Amino acid sequence: MEYVSTRGDAPVLDFEGVTLAGLASDGGLYLPREWPKFTADQIRDLRGEDYWTVAVEVMKPFVGDSLTEQELSDICNQVYGGSFSHAAVTPLVQLDTQNWLLELFHGPTLAFKDVALQMLGRLFETFLERRDKRLTIVGATSGDTGSAAIRAVAGLDRVEIFMLHPEGKVSDVQRRQMTTVRSPNVHNIAIDGSFDDAQSHVKRMFADSSVNQTLNLGAVNSINWARLMAQVVYYFYAALQMGAPDRKVAFSVPTGNFGDVFAGYVAAKMGLPIDRLVVATNVNDILERALTTGDYSARGVTATITPSMDIQVSSNFERLLFDLGGRDGAAMAAQMHGFDDTQSMTLTDAQRNGAHDLFMGVRADQDQTARAMQIAHQSSGQIIDPHTAVGLSAAHSAIDDDSIDPLTPVITLATAHPAKFPDAVERAVGVRPALPARVGDLFGREEKFTTLAGDYETTRDFVLSNAASSAS
Ligand SMILES: *Cc1c(COP(=O)(O)O)cnc(C)c1O
Repeated sequence: MEYVSTRGDAPVLDFEGVTLAGLASDGGLYLPREWPKFTADQIRDLRGEDYWTVAVEVMKPFVGDSLTEQELSDICNQVYGGSFSHAAVTPLVQLDTQNWLLELFHGPTLAFKDVALQMLGRLFETFLERRDKRLTIVGATSGDTGSAAIRAVAGLDRVEIFMLHPEGKVSDVQRRQMTTVRSPNVHNIAIDGSFDDAQSHVKRMFADSSVNQTLNLGAVNSINWARLMAQVVYYFYAALQMGAPDRKVAFSVPTGNFGDVFAGYVAAKMGLPIDRLVVATNVNDILERALTTGDYSARGVTATITPSMDIQVSSNFERLLFDLGGRDGAAMAAQMHGFDDTQSMTLTDAQRNGAHDLFMGVRADQDQTARAMQIAHQSSGQIIDPHTAVGLSAAHSAIDDDSIDPLTPVITLATAHPAKFPDAVERAVGVRPALPARVGDLFGREEKFTTLAGDYETTRDFVLSNAASSAS
């Protein structure tokens, strides 16, 4: 399988290449040159299979020659056979006649990001071994990505990770999930500044020759294609349980960077019958506005009880616009440069109409989010996290305004375990969710992190002097 950049001006790479590259060199994002297609019979053949078997079949066409089938199936077996606390990996739970939850939080850090990042860690190790190289991951996190990335690479021989978080601005659970991982290849840095400062330091390091000539830098955010690929699997797995390909289903997806819901689009492109993808946003609603009116314009970020969805712009949206706009890299580059200059752009007719065929944007404010938590609790005794509740609220809205047929099951992606956000959950439903036993004694373990001043140079110098690896 060949991969092309959305901006048309970066080298065409294979799967191994895009996994290690992250962002394309022209500033674009990599996508497969064409979508692999499954027939209804091929989909039907996957019914009743284990998660990891479905994973191998769905990922095989994307991986191409970069892994043998045996290598791919060994990796899937290790990851999905070993690192998740539920035998179904991503089990479905029924809430009422039409609504289901797809629980994606049975991995080590209790958020859906584990499903893909556990896989990415193994892919890194396999490809780096083959090239006899090392990789230094530098990332910034406001919560979930950092802990899931650290758990994915802790203990790997050829990967080292430096994770920056804004001091005092992530929850205790989230911080402890990062800082209690004791492994020599993990470096946690608390910077005296905001998440945006941390993010900007990371971007500067990628562009700083004093860093990238010494270290082979890698990325773990959802610009990395391999993450999206691994997320396509659970759309297939869930739809199969609900009768695919002989019955259509709809999904409601709590959305931030548009990674998770883009994976649903990929599943639809591959032939999975999906009736509708509900793009659920909180009050940071750039995507809801773009899908409803065609106006994609950034505004300031408002802090909410769903911090993982508090975004100003959604990097993966570019992948959708490129695919819907006829895959014209030069036009996409021009559109995105215009957006960089003005923080605003209008979708073309092709982009808008194409998006309307499958997507609908729905926004939930704080009250609606709390109400969805209450409804889930009352109707089925389920305690759900606030991100999941944004998705469920959007699912209810789409059903109520007849955007989804009453006979179509609606599956809301449950993106985090409620115990990650105990305060917001307790306020809404009056119950404080307990951490599952498998995360162990999170509050009894010793934390290890380094606190640094907020300027760029201090962070850069820390990374350079503490990195055990050098580019080889
Ligand atoms: C990251 C995250 C999201 C948003 O996912 P995207 O792929 O960025 O759209 C939603 N909910 C939770 C709990 C998350 O951690």
